[in-house]
Amino acid sequence: MKQTQEQINQLLNEIACEYNVKKLQSRKTKPCKKPPKPGAAQGNCPFEGAMVALGPITDVAHLVHGPVSCTRNPWGSRGSLSSNSQLYQMGFSTDLGENNIIFGGEKKLDKAIQEIAHRYNPAAIFVYATCVTALIGDDIENICKQAAHQVGIPVIHIDAPGFLGSKNLGNRIGGEALLEYVVGTAEPEFTTPLDINIIGDYNVAGEIWNILPLLKKLGIRVLSKITGDAHYQEICYAHRAKLNVVICSNVSLQMAQKMQERYGIPYIEESFYGVENINHCLRNIAAALGEQYLQERTEWLISEETEALNIALSFYRSQLQGKRIVLYSGGVKSWSIILAAKNLGMEVVAASDRKNTQDEKVKIKQLLGQNGMVLAKGSPKALLQAIEDTKADILVAGASNQYTALKARIPFLDVNHERHHAYSGYIGMLTMAKEFYEALYSPVWEQIRQPAPWD
Ligand code: SF4
Repeated sequence: MKQTQEQINQLLNEIACEYNVKKLQSRKTKPCKKPPKPGAAQGNCPFEGAMVALGPITDVAHLVHGPVSCTRNPWGSRGSLSSNSQLYQMGFSTDLGENNIIFGGEKKLDKAIQEIAHRYNPAAIFVYATCVTALIGDDIENICKQAAHQVGIPVIHIDAPGFLGSKNLGNRIGGEALLEYVVGTAEPEFTTPLDINIIGDYNVAGEIWNILPLLKKLGIRVLSKITGDAHYQEICYAHRAKLNVVICSNVSLQMAQKMQERYGIPYIEESFYGVENINHCLRNIAAALGEQYLQERTEWLISEETEALNIALSFYRSQLQGKRIVLYSGGVKSWSIILAAKNLGMEVVAASDRKNTQDEKVKIKQLLGQNGMVLAKGSPKALLQAIEDTKADILVAGASNQYTALKARIPFLDVNHERHHAYSGYIGMLTMAKEFYEALYSPVWEQIRQPAPWD
C-alpha cells in the first residue's frame, strides 16, 4: 500500500492519546506529527519497524525489495518464536545491485515473487519497500497486484522505506497494511462469545505461550494473535473477535482504535508483565467480555496462580529485597517492569520513557515516585552517569547496552527483543526473579571489582 503524506501524518498523530487530542484542540502547541530529522533512520528505520511488526507472521514469506544489506538490518533481531511454520525466518531479498538501480528493479521483484511462490508455497508474500527502491521509483504496488493474480496468493506491498521516519512509524504502517489488506478477508469456522484478539505481542522468547494456557483455562479463545506466532489466516478473521487486548500501546493502539471504528470491537490496553499487571489484565478481559461466570472463574484462577507463585518466589524475594535497578527500555516494558520489580521487593531508581504514549509517560513518572529519575538519553555516557548517581545494583536494558553495564562492573539483564527468556504471565515472573538472582549473585562480580594486579 503506497503511503501518502496525509496517511503518514495520521499514523504519526496519536488519536487515541488524550494529551495529543488536547494539543490538537488547543492549536497552540504542535501535536505528535514529528517529521524525521536527518539521520533519524540510523539504527531503527520504518522498514525495520514494519518487519518487526509483521515478521512474526510465521507462514508468510517476507521479501525485502532492496539491497541485501537492508534484509540484514531487522532479520534475527527479534526472537519471535513459532509453534508451526518456520518460513518467516527465511531472509528473502531481491538483492539489488548497481545495474538494477540504474535500470529499475521491477523485473527482479516479479521474478523473486514467482520463485518464492513456487518453491516455498507461502500463505502470502509481503513485499517491503526500502530507501533504494522507493527512491528509484519502482512501481511495487502494481507489480504486487499483477503477481498476486499470477501466483494465486495475496502479495502485499508494505511501503515503509527508511527515510519516512522512525521505527514506530514502520510498526504502524505494518498494522495499517494488515487492516487494509488482511483483516476481514476471511471468516472463521465458528465464533464464540469469548473470542479475543491479542494485538502488539510478538511472542519474543515464546511469551505468548505463558498467556494462552491461562486464557484457555478461563474458556477464552484467542481468535487472532497480531502478530506473535500468528498464521496469515487467523489475522484474516480478526474482525470477528469480541474484544481487542492491546499489549504494546505505542504501536498497536491505532490499529485497535480503527478496528473499533470499522468493526465495533472494543479494546483494552494491558500488560502481561508482573503479577499486578497480569491480574489486572485477566480481570479486565473478564469484565469486558461480560459472561456471567467468567469473573468468578477469573478470581479463582488468579488466587490459585498467585498462591503458587508466592510460594515459588519466597526465596528469590528474600535475596532481591532492596536491590536497585536502572531500567532502559521502551514501550509497555518500561512501566510493567517497574511494577514487576516492586513485586519482587526491588526498586527501579531510574527508567526511560522513550517509545511510550503520553499516558504511559505519566504512569512511569508516578511509579518512579519523587526520587525516581526519568532518563531522557540512553547513550552509554548517560547510563553510566545514572548508574553512578543512583548507586544501582543492576542495569536492565537491551542487549546493546550490556557492555555499558560491564564497564560499570554491574550485572545486566536483557529485557528487549533479543532476550532468550519469557517474562510474561505468572510463570514469567518466576523466570524473571531467577534471572535477576543469577545475574546479581554471579561470583564474577566480586572478582572483576577487585583492583587489577598492576594497579
Ligand atoms: S530501508 Fe533505508 S534506512 Fe532502512 S535499512 Fe534499508 S537503506 Fe537503511
